Amino acid sequence: MSDLIQQFESILDANGILCGEEVCNRAVHVWDDSSIEARAILRPTTTAQVSAILKLCNEANQTVVPHGGRTGLVQSSITVANDVIISLERMNQIEEIDEVGRTITVQAGVPLQVLQETAEAAGLFFPVDLGARGSCQIGGNVSTNAGGNRVIRFGMMRDNVLGLEAVLADGTVVTSMNTMIKNNAGYDLKQLFIGTEGTLGVITRLVLRLREAITEDETAFVAFDTFDQVTGFLKYIDGALGGTLSAYEVLWHDYYDLVTTSPATNKPPVEKTRPYYALVESLGTVTDREKFEATMIKALEDGLIADAAVAQSGGDRAAMWAIRDDVEQFFRYGPPQIFDVSIAIRHIGEYVEEVKRRLAERWPDHHCFTFGHIGDGNIHFAITVPNADHKVHRAVEDCVYEPLAPHGGSVSAEHGIGLEKKDYLTVSRSPTEIALMRRLKHSLDPKGILNPGKIFEFAGAM
Ligand SMILES: Cc1cc2nc3c(=O)[nH]c(=O)nc-3n(C[C@H](O)[C@H](O)[C@H](O)COP(=O)(O)OP(=O)(O)OC[C@H]3O[C@@H](n4cnc5c(N)ncnc54)[C@H](O)[C@@H]3O)c2cc1C
Repeated sequence: MSDLIQQFESILDANGILCGEEVCNRAVHVWDDSSIEARAILRPTTTAQVSAILKLCNEANQTVVPHGGRTGLVQSSITVANDVIISLERMNQIEEIDEVGRTITVQAGVPLQVLQETAEAAGLFFPVDLGARGSCQIGGNVSTNAGGNRVIRFGMMRDNVLGLEAVLADGTVVTSMNTMIKNNAGYDLKQLFIGTEGTLGVITRLVLRLREAITEDETAFVAFDTFDQVTGFLKYIDGALGGTLSAYEVLWHDYYDLVTTSPATNKPPVEKTRPYYALVESLGTVTDREKFEATMIKALEDGLIADAAVAQSGGDRAAMWAIRDDVEQFFRYGPPQIFDVSIAIRHIGEYVEEVKRRLAERWPDHHCFTFGHIGDGNIHFAITVPNADHKVHRAVEDCVYEPLAPHGGSVSAEHGIGLEKKDYLTVSRSPTEIALMRRLKHSLDPKGILNPGKIFEFAGAM
């Protein structure tokens, strides 16, 4: 290995290689202080350096794990002591904004929030948004095909990537920096690297689509008596707003109560007496406050909703989003198991009831908090079972994943598979689909050096 380190030294500057204590001093995750285990953390600044590193690693059968901001929630950036990490943190340059074409070209290590703020400063808007925005990197977002709060209107990360550059396991640089919305010239190669969790290549640069700046932002907090009202109002409000609905975030009573009860500091915008709540957001470019309020009043009069509070200021809007985003309250009862699944909207109500029934039957003293991007069929659970060991964790996973299968649901809506959901991939993907994934892996990374063991087992030809 010291030979390999010496060769890395010929590629990178002194700040580009971390070894020993400098590796251990780094936490594995933003929510977990355990030390990283790895032979070295390499911090390139250019695509050419990434290419040279991978070429060397491939020749030496050295496993490599790409690191973004380490905010992923499925253990897809976990390493073992023999791995080498390529961290994209120093590849953080904004290369160009095209205000006419409405694109931005960046290196993969740019934090999501920096990208959003850069677009805003140019009078434009990057719509993908998630709670980890300050820490996660755009390369990590693309590698996980992150979703977040505005998918219902602007799609997932995949829908906002126009072009990318990635380095294959053998060091080959694939530059596919398309800037057009339309480009059907053969295979769309960027898709190979979107949502594949660093198993097929290391993303080094990206071209992303921007939108016109949002000048009007309306937000409301709504309460419901039944789940039919939740789904009925989604259809109603989407139609009534004529295309500006940008978020429909549903909170079950358990989650709403948790994040509006001390030590949480959020104030409940509507009374805490109903089983379901939704944060509704409309983003546009024309002033439409009156239309938004009138729609809410009519929905209340028609019995489509049970209660509503419309934000009157930026402060109100921020307070409503703080309720939705206060996920750190989950840790109040010990480390939770966090789930991210999807299922057809019409099945969500009964599916959630089934999961809760199974949990209550087995562990009467469990805690389960439920919320989700319901417009996208995406539900999150944070579940804590007291004194849970590995076996209990597996049993909790079974309670959540098993009821998905009859409805064709997915064990991963937006977080990916990583190590955590690997054993459940077969709930949502057929043997033929998994076999094709393996063939792709084999053709791009035949030795299996890239992010080994993640998504599915792959015996490379080392
Ligand atoms: C508070 C909080 C809120 C969150 N909310 C959401 C949400 O609403 N929606 C959502 O989808 N996710 C959410 N997440 C999960 C997480 O933020 C996303 O998965 C994010 O996209 C990961 O980005 P990252 O830079 O942290 O990547 P990492 O965690 O560092 O890595 C994730 C995966 O991508 C690979 N990778 C990273 N960079 C590259 C690269 N340049 N090239 C190739 N592979 C790479 C890694 O090897 C790993 O497999 C949330 C997480 C937290 C902590």
